[in-house]
Amino acid sequence: MSDCLFCKIVAGEIPARVVAESDTALAFYDITPQAPVHVLVIPKRHFDSVNDVTESDRGVFDDLTALAREVATAEGVRDSGYRLVYNVGEEGGQTVAHLHVHVLGGRQMHWAPG
Ligand code: AMP
Ligand code: ZN
Repeated sequence: MSDCLFCKIVAGEIPARVVAESDTALAFYDITPQAPVHVLVIPKRHFDSVNDVTESDRGVFDDLTALAREVATAEGVRDSGYRLVYNVGEEGGQTVAHLHVHVLGGRQMHWAPG
């Protein structure tokens, strides 16, 4: 996916503040943080969204969740609590078409979809 922003970050073609990494996933700070801790965790391999992950690839979610939990620990919010968010598609508010999970923490979260 040569024109994908997050693929370019994985390839090192666009800079990002990397927080953590595994064999299959990369974590970096969101450029427009919505909370004191706001990190994006993405698979190194391109998937458009949650909808694009097939049965045989579903281990990608384990990998993303595991790295997200590592990030939460490293950022000091593991015990205070944090939120993991997948936005999916247009009405889900997804703006970058490369699968990612938001790690949000460092303040009280409220259930306020919108
Ligand atoms: P979503 O709206 O769920 O697709 O989330 C995309 C996120 O990517 C947004 O929170 C943006 O602030 C973030 N973002 C966009 N471009 C960059 C970038 N170059 N580096 C880091 N985060 C970015
Ligand atoms: Zn991509």
